[in-house]
Amino acid sequence: MVNTHLRQNQKTIAWEILDWIFPPSCCGCGIKGAVICPSCRKSLTLLEEPVCRICGKPFDPLDGCKTCRSQEMRFTSARAAFLYQGIVREAIHQLKYSGNLEISQVFANYLLSVYLKQNWEPDFVIAVPLSKEKMNERGFNQSEWIAKPLAKAIRKPYLKGALRKKQDTDSQVGLGRTERIENLRGAFQAEPILVRGKNILVIDDVMTTGSTFNECAGTLKASGAKDVFCLSVATTDSLKD
Ligand SMILES: [Zn+2]
Ligand SMILES: [Zn+2]
Repeated sequence: MVNTHLRQNQKTIAWEILDWIFPPSCCGCGIKGAVICPSCRKSLTLLEEPVCRICGKPFDPLDGCKTCRSQEMRFTSARAAFLYQGIVREAIHQLKYSGNLEISQVFANYLLSVYLKQNWEPDFVIAVPLSKEKMNERGFNQSEWIAKPLAKAIRKPYLKGALRKKQDTDSQVGLGRTERIENLRGAFQAEPILVRGKNILVIDDVMTTGSTFNECAGTLKASGAKDVFCLSVATTDSLKD
């Protein structure tokens, strides 16, 4: 545990030094100095109503939610700050593949404003876990980097050990809805002592079909969790699927 923390701190310091030597450029306009410069930050718009009250995706109120029609959602509700496009998409990509603490803090702030609009009362916060293999390969879990500052801001504990990913699964990229569900089945394991009777907030970077949140929620509930709330930085637009 101490080792992991130490490694993470060293990694953080290393990135900060790198940022100082090679200042990041803005995902939106390329200007040097910040991952999302102040003027591009102003151009970001939070996802607005109407969104599905279950999965949080934009939907046509006359037609109902396509995403929730195609699978039974096991979480109580999910919300996202943005649509997965443009600057946000680029920034998530940068966070995931090059690691950047500044961007995870920015995202945590946006998630905080979405969180404050909900009537959620989680007992603690977790991030969608990565498998050991993936963690060794990437060195960090980008969702954890977003979840930790958020947990601090809402004064709830971050409980890493409540859910873990048992085995490495194939990437979800390029898989259809049914394949995504199949690919993740049984991939997570919850810690019953920590989750029983609790309301849990799960954080991820991107929600696509919702199958990752769904599998996490199903696993947590099978171990006795009460409500599972899900929050992601971005969600794909099911109206354009
Ligand atoms: Zn910019
Ligand atoms: Zn829905």
